[in-house]
Amino acid sequence: MTLRTNSTNTPNKIAPVFGQNSFNKHEEIVFFNDEETGLKAIVGIHNSVLGPALGGTRMWNYDNEWDALNDVLRLSRGMTYKAAVSGLDLGGGKAVIIGDATTQKTDILMRKFGKFIHSLGGKYLTAEDMGMETRDMDIIREVTPYVTGVSEEKGGSGNPSPSTALGVFMGLKAATKFQFGSDNLNGKKILVQGVGHVGEILVKHLTDEGASIIINDINEEAIERISKTYNTKIHRGTDIYSLDVDIYAPCAMGATLNDYSIPQLKAKVIAGAANNQLANELKHSKLLQEKGITYAPDFLVNAGGIINIYREIKNISKIDAIHRTENIYNTTLEILAMAQKNEITTHQAAFNLAQKRINDRKLSGEITR
Ligand code: NAD
Repeated sequence: MTLRTNSTNTPNKIAPVFGQNSFNKHEEIVFFNDEETGLKAIVGIHNSVLGPALGGTRMWNYDNEWDALNDVLRLSRGMTYKAAVSGLDLGGGKAVIIGDATTQKTDILMRKFGKFIHSLGGKYLTAEDMGMETRDMDIIREVTPYVTGVSEEKGGSGNPSPSTALGVFMGLKAATKFQFGSDNLNGKKILVQGVGHVGEILVKHLTDEGASIIINDINEEAIERISKTYNTKIHRGTDIYSLDVDIYAPCAMGATLNDYSIPQLKAKVIAGAANNQLANELKHSKLLQEKGITYAPDFLVNAGGIINIYREIKNISKIDAIHRTENIYNTTLEILAMAQKNEITTHQAAFNLAQKRINDRKLSGEITR
């Protein structure tokens, strides 16, 4: 199964780990293998200056191990900046399990994975990502406390997707205000690519505001059901990037903003849940800027889930987490304005803010690890 991790990232087979384009000062990369269960997993700890490295586990049927490695490297780095820009005392990490979640995921495999996570002693805290469910987190919790996104019945914060969807919705509204002068979504044409856990709830928020939605997904059952429930249009073709829409919300896989898609885009706002939307951060954020497209940085607007999970680590209330998630609206507006003022890309502006927080913590000497 192809998951485009980075279109510019041809594996460097001479320097298999530190030589990857996605390698970026990562602190630790751990490979796990279990013969009995067939578990093959990689954990990437990018940065732990602000706190323990937190990030979900993705179970995906990668074409090859290079794709899995590059995915975990890119995703864990993204988590560092997501936590930092959101003001959370967490570092960035991520895990991938190589395998098909629909056919190869078993309770025994999850427990074994949990034991591996436990062996890291809390340096890495896991959670859900694509291919994983709250139920899996509950199973992992049986063998380790170093897991978040556990169900509410088991004392956790539950499925993070509704909070992620709320944050994306707030970021999307802010970017719409910046681009069009008003955040009113009534009548706006919006393409939602991927109507899974996050995409579906985002569609609900958007239709509640009177937006006109087109959905696209490879899961035929999901598009049929969601189209009926929320009265949306469906687009099945591969020509989705050239659709005549105002806003594009990528909520499936990463790297959809690339050399192929950007020249075709008619949308003037991009805001979605997918991680690592820019195939090449520098080049493609610049191309979007040149086309006059307002790009709401992914790691900023999709932070609602991690903000909700933060309740399991710091003693903050559910309502406080909701307010922090709603505040993504203000942070997005600030970052978009900062980018405009400094004539830099919106991605760079968000990145600068996050990096400043990490640098300040380093300078203060209050590093928790
Ligand atoms: P999900 O697995 O529930 O949904 C993803 C959807 O995308 C599925 O319906 C799938 O069929 C569809 N899809 C996959 N490949 C596609 C393709 N080529 N074209 C169209 N559709 C395709 O995942 P999710 O939890 O909804 O997360 C969506 C994205 O947001 C992921 O990139 C994830 O990493 C990111 N994200 C999720 C959360 C969260 O709280 N769940 C938080 C932050 C970021």
